[in-house]
Amino acid sequence: MTAVEQTRHLATAIPGPKSSALIDRKAAAVSRGVGTTMPVYAARAGGGIVEDVDGNRLIDLGSGIAVTTIGNAAPRVAAAVAAQAREFTHTCFMVTPYEQYVDVCEHLNRLTPGTGEKRSALFNTGSEAVENAIKIARSYTRKQAVVAFDHAYHGRTNLTMALTAKSMPYKNGFGPFAPEIYRAPLSYPFRDAEFGKELATDGELAARRAISVIDKQVGADNLAAVIIEPIQGEGGFIVPAPGFLATLLAWCRDNNVVFIADEVQTGFARTGAMFACEHEGIEPDLIVTAKGIAGGLPLSAVTGRADIMDAPHVSGLGGTYGGNPVACAAALATIETIESDGLVARAAAIETLMKDRLHRLQADDDRIGDVRGRGAMIAVELVKPGGIEPDAELTKALCAAAHSQGVIVLSCGTYGNVLRFLPPLAISDELLNEGLDVLAAALKELA
Ligand SMILES: *Cc1c(COP(=O)(O)O)cnc(C)c1O
Repeated sequence: MTAVEQTRHLATAIPGPKSSALIDRKAAAVSRGVGTTMPVYAARAGGGIVEDVDGNRLIDLGSGIAVTTIGNAAPRVAAAVAAQAREFTHTCFMVTPYEQYVDVCEHLNRLTPGTGEKRSALFNTGSEAVENAIKIARSYTRKQAVVAFDHAYHGRTNLTMALTAKSMPYKNGFGPFAPEIYRAPLSYPFRDAEFGKELATDGELAARRAISVIDKQVGADNLAAVIIEPIQGEGGFIVPAPGFLATLLAWCRDNNVVFIADEVQTGFARTGAMFACEHEGIEPDLIVTAKGIAGGLPLSAVTGRADIMDAPHVSGLGGTYGGNPVACAAALATIETIESDGLVARAAAIETLMKDRLHRLQADDDRIGDVRGRGAMIAVELVKPGGIEPDAELTKALCAAAHSQGVIVLSCGTYGNVLRFLPPLAISDELLNEGLDVLAAALKELA
């Protein structure tokens, strides 16, 4: 276990004096464009706690946006990073390759859904891996167009901004964006219910709606890839109706279109499976991973069918830092931790605990429109009482109340009205329950 004491503790107001001084220094030194959710500066973290520079200990229901899934400063990761940093920190895999990179690729090929022959390539960020998945799909199909979905989030680089749906804050004023990107309607059960019960529950029907748009507005002959998050992250933790992903995938297979699953947020045990695609029993052509892959070190990957992955010419893929040896050592330690400590099952247990509490909360509060998600990726969608009109104000107020009481929570969603929970799997049930107690009390107070 970690040295950080596993209790919530408020030593000062939030933010305390040391964080306040850093907030002032940030304003003078850091670009305004780089925003922060919390007004406190971190000093150390582990288990289910982030301790700030003033000695406040906060319950972590965010994992640094689904990154420290196995826990912050996880013991195996910290040891592996230190050991690798003493041996060598970088040679560039494209210059003098090293075994750790190959090890990580072998694990990715083994762990991802799909039994056929696979290959992987490593990069630094989720956005960079998404860009490379598109490059690979274009190289393989010799086609150009790419379809992404409503509410999608795929990153902040130029190509991935084009794939991302939401303008503010991700795209506003930053265009022009990459061409040949098209958007199709998602399956969003809570909001599709407005258009009839069938659309909300029948994923195949929702997929037919999307395929019709793709067929008419793009055409399979022009389409290189369809990219989708199996459970949307920033878009609002939207779990598509059963059958949606499988129907899309089948259409892609019939039309020589590469199906790319963006599992950057959902991957590595987060959803109560190693990868979220497993819940739908699908085997995507390519899977993009990052966030939870390396316990906080920057690493990302594209993994998939060998024939597709091997389509680009030799030296067509790469990057100076991609698959950095220290990040690879962290990834190997992360994978070992997930497998030896049974963390996939832990994520499933967290789902049971959280959904049970949140459903009970929903039963007496008609501002909670929907409780959804899988594993340790759970959200509530907040609405004006009884309807489906989004309540972003309430969401903001609830987050602020939680933050001031020492609970780190994040919001998301196209309408800014989704409260999302991404606890580290190393959190105790006690801390998880306490975090939810704080939220329940704050919600009551905001009535
Ligand atoms: C975070 C995220 C990305 C972008 O990853 P970065 O490492 O921030 O570039 C892409 N796709 C999904 C689904 C994400 O959640």
